[in-house]
Amino acid sequence: MTIELLPDHLINQIAAGEVIERPSSAVKELVENSLDAGATHIKIDVEAGGVKLIRVTDNGVGIPKDKLALALQRHATSKISSMTDLNSVSSLGFRGEALPSIASVSKLTLSSSFEHSLGSCVGVEQGSIGKIKPAPIQSGTQVELRDLFYNVPARRKFLRTEKTELGHIEKLIRLLALGHPNVAFDIRVNGKSKAQLASAKSTENHARRVEQICGKAFLENAFYFEQRVEGLSLSGWLASPTFSRSQPDLQHFFVNRRSVKDKTVAHATKQAFADVMFHGRYPAYVLFLDIDPHLVDVNVHPGKQEVRFRDSRQIHSFVHRCISEVIASTGPGHEKVVDAPFEISASPYSESSGFQARAGAGQAYKPFANPRQTGLGLSIADSREAYASLIDRSTGDASAHVDEFDGDIPPLGFALAQLHGIYILAQNANGLVLVDMHAAHERTTYERLKKNWDDEASLRSQPLLVPIGVSVTQAQAELAGSHGEIFRELGFELDRSGPESILVRQVPAILANADVEQMIQDVISDIEEEGHTERLRGEVNEILSTMACHGSVRANRRMTVVEMNALLREMEKTERSGQCNHGRPTYVMFSIEQLDKLFLRGQ
Ligand code: ADP
Ligand code: MG
Repeated sequence: MTIELLPDHLINQIAAGEVIERPSSAVKELVENSLDAGATHIKIDVEAGGVKLIRVTDNGVGIPKDKLALALQRHATSKISSMTDLNSVSSLGFRGEALPSIASVSKLTLSSSFEHSLGSCVGVEQGSIGKIKPAPIQSGTQVELRDLFYNVPARRKFLRTEKTELGHIEKLIRLLALGHPNVAFDIRVNGKSKAQLASAKSTENHARRVEQICGKAFLENAFYFEQRVEGLSLSGWLASPTFSRSQPDLQHFFVNRRSVKDKTVAHATKQAFADVMFHGRYPAYVLFLDIDPHLVDVNVHPGKQEVRFRDSRQIHSFVHRCISEVIASTGPGHEKVVDAPFEISASPYSESSGFQARAGAGQAYKPFANPRQTGLGLSIADSREAYASLIDRSTGDASAHVDEFDGDIPPLGFALAQLHGIYILAQNANGLVLVDMHAAHERTTYERLKKNWDDEASLRSQPLLVPIGVSVTQAQAELAGSHGEIFRELGFELDRSGPESILVRQVPAILANADVEQMIQDVISDIEEEGHTERLRGEVNEILSTMACHGSVRANRRMTVVEMNALLREMEKTERSGQCNHGRPTYVMFSIEQLDKLFLRGQ
C-alpha cells in the first residue's frame, strides 16, 4: 500500500467518531454553539431519539452569509485564533470540528441571519457543501440535521432504543440548562412540547432552575454557599448529609459553567463527606467552580467533558475546605434549626388512619434572618431562604415565614421527658424537638475523640516490639524516604532496610492492631498517585467511630433531665452533630405550626 492523504469527507467522519458518539453528543455541540453565540432562548426539537431529526434554533448573533460555508469546514472557528487564545478559552467550543463532523454523518442544513440581515441557508449531504440560498429566518441560527449516522451503519447499529437515546439527550440538556440559568430552553420531542425552562436572572431564580432540574426534595435539603479566594470561587448547593443517595447521580460539577467530570473534585468532595456519610451512600450537590481560564486546560478531551487544572492540589484543598465548612455547620443552632426530614400529612384522616411521617419528603423551613458566617468567611444560606423570600415577595407577604428566635432559649431547647428509653423530648422557641439519644451521643462522643486525637499528637505513637518489614519497589522506598515527614506526622517511624524494603519501627497506637504492611503500602500508593494521603485519617476515624458507638448510651438507659439537657448543649457545641456517624439524623423538629396542622387547628 502506498501512503496517501485521506479525503476530507473521510477525515471528518473519523473526527465524528470521536466527537459524535450518539445523538446526544450532536445536541451538546449544537446547543453549546448557541450558548457561545450569546443566545438567551434555545429551542430543541428531537424526533425518534434524535436519529430522525435534531433541530436547534437560537436567538444568538447569527452567522454572516459569506461565512456560512466556512463554518461547515474543519478547523474553522470564530472562537480562537492563537495559542494565547487556546490557553485562556472562555467559550464552550474552540476546536472548529463540531459542525463538519456532524455534517459528515448526517444530512445537515444550516440557516442563519446575522444582525437581522436577510437569512440564508446551506445544506450538506455526503460531505459536500451545497449552494447558499435565501432562507426565511429573521434572526439567530438554526441547525437541522436529519438521519444521523445514515452513512455510518456501524455506528447506527450501536444506538440503543429511542427511549434510551432520548434519555441521554434530556440528561445533557439538563446539565447545559443547570449551567446556564439565564438562558430559556424549549424542548420538543416528536412534535410535542416536553419541557420549558424560563430564564433566571438572579441567584434566587437560579434556585428555581435547580429545583426544576434536580427536584424539590434536593433544593429543600440543600445549603446554598459561596466561597471566594484569589482567582477562585466555588458556589452552589450542597445537600445535607442526611439527604444521601444510593447512586452518585446527583453530583453536578461545573468549571466556568462547563459541566465536567473531574476526579480531583470528586475525590475532595467524597473525602469531605467521608465522616458523615454511611458507606455506600453518595452526597448530592450542584457546584460551580469559577476559575481564571489560564489556570485550567480545557483542551484535553475531544468531547470537552474533562479539564485539567494547572494546580490540582490547590483545587483539591479549596473544594475540600469549602465543603467541610458547610458540612461542619449542619448542626443545631445554625440555619437548619427547624428541620425535620419528615412530612406531616396535612390531613391525618386521609386514606390510612393516623398521621403519616415520610422520610425525605418536603419540609417546612424557617430560615434565620441572616446567613451564618463561618470561620472561612463562607456565607451559608439555605437555598430555601432565597426561595421562600422569592415566593413571599410574589405574594406580597414578606415576613410570613420568618419566625422570631428568642435568644435566651438554646436551639435544641430544654428536655421535657424521655420517650420509651430511646428519644428525648424537648421544647424550644419554635416547638417540639425530638432527639435520638444514642445517635446524638455517638456523634458528640466521636467528635470529641477526634479532637483529642488531634490535640494529643505525642500520645499517638507506639513502638513495635518486633519491627515489621514491608517490601516495596525501589521507587516506592525512595518515596517513603523523601516523605519521612508525612509519616512522622502520622505517627509512623520508618527506616529503609534495603533497596526494596522498609522497616516499620513505630505505629500510631490506635492502629497497632491493623494490618500495618498493607497500610504502609496503601499510603505509599496514595502519595505516589495523588501527592498526599487521607487514608490514615480515614482508618483512624473509623476506629474512633466504632469506639464512640460502643461507648455511647444504649437505648433503654434512663437519663435524668440534667443529663438530657447536657447532651442537648453538647450537640449544639459539636460540629456535624446534625447526623450520626452513619448519616442518619440525630434530631428532628416540629414547629408549632406543623403541630397545629396535624390537629387541623386554625383551618
Ligand atoms: P467551534 O464551536 O469549535 O468554533 P463549530 O464547528 O462548532 O466549531 O462551529 C464553527 C463556527 O461556526 C463557530 O466558531 C461559530 O463561529 C459558528 N457557529 C456555529 N454555530 C453557531 C450558532 N448557533 N450561532 C452563531 N455562530 C455559530
Ligand atoms: Mg462548537
